[in-house]
Amino acid sequence: MRYADVIVPLAVEGLFTYAVPDTLKNKVEAGTLVLAAFAGNRRYTALVVRVHGEKPEGYTVRMLEGVVEEGVKLSPVHVRFLQWVGDYYMTTPGEVMKAALPAVFREPESELFREKNVAVIAWAREFTDEELGHWLDALKRAPAQYKLLCAWIEQGQAEAERGAFLKEYGVSAAALKGLCEKGILRVEERAISRLARKVEVGRLSVLSEKQAAGLESIRHFYETKDCVLLRGVTSSGKTEIYIHLIQECLEQGKQVLYMVPEIALTLQIVRRLERAFGARVGVYHSGMSEQMRAELWRKQCSDEPFGLILGVRSSVFLPFQKLGLVIVDEEHDASYKQKEPAPRYNGRDAAIMLARMTGAKVLLGSATPSFESYRHALAGKYGLVELNARYGGVEMPALLLADVKEYRRKKLMKGSLSPLLVEEMRRVLEEKQQVILFQNRRGYSSYVQCDHCGTIPKCRHCDVSLTYYKQRNVLVCRYCGAVEPMPATCTDCGVGHYRERTPGTERVEEEVEQLFPDCKVGRLDLDVAGSKRRFRRIMDDFEVQEIDVLIGTQMVTKGLDFEHVKLVGVIDADSMVNFPDFRAEERAYCMLLQVSGRSGRKGEQGKVVIQAANVRNRVYEMLLRGDYRRFYDCLAEERKLFGYPPFGRLVQVELRHKEVVALRNAANELAGQLRGVLGGRVCGPAVPEVSKIGDVNRLILLLKIEASASCAAMKTLLKEQCEALKRNKAYGALRVIYDVDP
Ligand code: ADP
Ligand code: ZN
Repeated sequence: MRYADVIVPLAVEGLFTYAVPDTLKNKVEAGTLVLAAFAGNRRYTALVVRVHGEKPEGYTVRMLEGVVEEGVKLSPVHVRFLQWVGDYYMTTPGEVMKAALPAVFREPESELFREKNVAVIAWAREFTDEELGHWLDALKRAPAQYKLLCAWIEQGQAEAERGAFLKEYGVSAAALKGLCEKGILRVEERAISRLARKVEVGRLSVLSEKQAAGLESIRHFYETKDCVLLRGVTSSGKTEIYIHLIQECLEQGKQVLYMVPEIALTLQIVRRLERAFGARVGVYHSGMSEQMRAELWRKQCSDEPFGLILGVRSSVFLPFQKLGLVIVDEEHDASYKQKEPAPRYNGRDAAIMLARMTGAKVLLGSATPSFESYRHALAGKYGLVELNARYGGVEMPALLLADVKEYRRKKLMKGSLSPLLVEEMRRVLEEKQQVILFQNRRGYSSYVQCDHCGTIPKCRHCDVSLTYYKQRNVLVCRYCGAVEPMPATCTDCGVGHYRERTPGTERVEEEVEQLFPDCKVGRLDLDVAGSKRRFRRIMDDFEVQEIDVLIGTQMVTKGLDFEHVKLVGVIDADSMVNFPDFRAEERAYCMLLQVSGRSGRKGEQGKVVIQAANVRNRVYEMLLRGDYRRFYDCLAEERKLFGYPPFGRLVQVELRHKEVVALRNAANELAGQLRGVLGGRVCGPAVPEVSKIGDVNRLILLLKIEASASCAAMKTLLKEQCEALKRNKAYGALRVIYDVDP
């Protein structure tokens, strides 16, 4: 008898063993998707990890019931990779499997993969002119059918898509049915690909001297190193270099994974990639339907996979047959880290591991590398290639600091826009050029406060202040989505009125409209980006200058390449710098540099106005100097001192419980236990920034693990302690969530 160890797509630890029935013997091996009943009679798609002859002892072994999706089989490396993600990020293999596989494969009892069909009209057989003449005569009494046949003859093609044809010629479905019944036309269902896109292929651009030298040194590093960091200022042509490397890799018959941090960037870059590689480009992101995801999986397992996959972090889970190169663009970006739900993995780090397992090369690209990657590059573990000038000799934008505190003292700050920013905006708009205003909302957002008693309305279920949406006149919780109408008077004192405090994007929009009544303003934030169509429209309008001023949150910082943008304004830079997180300054620097990179990308030099109250902060100082290395050296000292990344690792443990007392006791017990063994490496318990979400309270512990210590051993210890805690009846429904490299 043969047995198979499988992963079931659930949050359960470990593997499960099933017997392989004779009928499936030739089909089941490591990487096969199989049908297995688990815990009762519910059936799941399970993933085979190993087939062997060792009969498990102590329980009756169940039989596998079938093979799911015979065409789709994971390679042994792929299976090992999924297991690595589970181990490293301290989650179950089942949860990794859930994140990796399209739902269509995972849930055999629900929807299966369906081909997408279109109806096509064609002649039922060949007709002579004479025959057709007869038919036309005969149909004079059925005008609708007559009209349709004339239209059909007129359109001249051998076949046509049914819906499009009926619509274009304004003919009826009933008439078509009539002609089919008479044996003149026929309608056929045909499978088409959901992934097909129309593309025009052009030639690759010729690299500039500096770019060519950069490409050459990347190649040179690959002779001895697996990973290269390409640090290039914004608009230096990193993407062009990627394209040339991709070309070489495809020519060798190998595949490329090209990762970007956000969907919005896939939309921008896909056009450029398709111009170079045509139909060899496949796109993968979370906005795709499950059926599309399934089709892509099938294609990647087939004889004709896409050579190049452009995708967001989850594309690291796709099957590759011959991976040769992984490009991680904007590698510093925090969006590569999945926060919720498990697996809480970092797409960049997972990709580096995937490349190591498959023998592929890695190229990390950024203008402001993460400290982790930069450290490896400085230490020689990664190759380091730098591009310090923009393509075409375009100058880097000029940075101006607007001292908001000073303006306030002189009573010159009317709203959220400083006189300096307004003046620069006026100049740019008069020249019919464009402006981007960046309003960061990370860490806080526009809340309201009573002007009498000072109360800030909070969500009933979460520990966060509510956000005000003016157009709908409601208060909304950003965490649980609860919506409340905006009360006429303060619900606490009954006297005062709620006033908006920090300006959100909506407020800025209003101010700009008042100051520049003739200019067209567009807003791009999470509320808009939820709709792909609205997002696209705003982008397109901005591109053709239907919009003069674009206001937005993080979304406007990345990747956008519009040639008429000559000014970028950062409304409130302090909020980023002061965010309570050890990475706040690193992130603020990145974000400010990224957003300024949107200014003056072509032609004349652009400008950036950064508004800050605390202008003497070192982040601004270093930014003005444009010296990333110095900035790194300066912050690295502190990180080293406190054992923070990149000089140590962090594992965050979050405990969740409805009752505050039980939660606090559990957290204290865990901290005590861990301290007994790990001493000062344990920090906390601490109250997180948001201490309650949806009526569940939260506390966090942080484990600092120095680079020389064994991370795996500490994780094991941590897990054991947490499991013991969960078994303790006093803590009832305690939940433990691990976050590795938070
Ligand atoms: P980065 O990825 O470093 O921000 P890009 O590759 O997007 O830079 O290049 C910035 C702009 O300059 C783009 O519009 C790009 O088309 C153009 N560009 C860069 N290098 C070349 C080149 N060698 N030939 C033609 N255009 C180039
Ligand atoms: Zn809430």
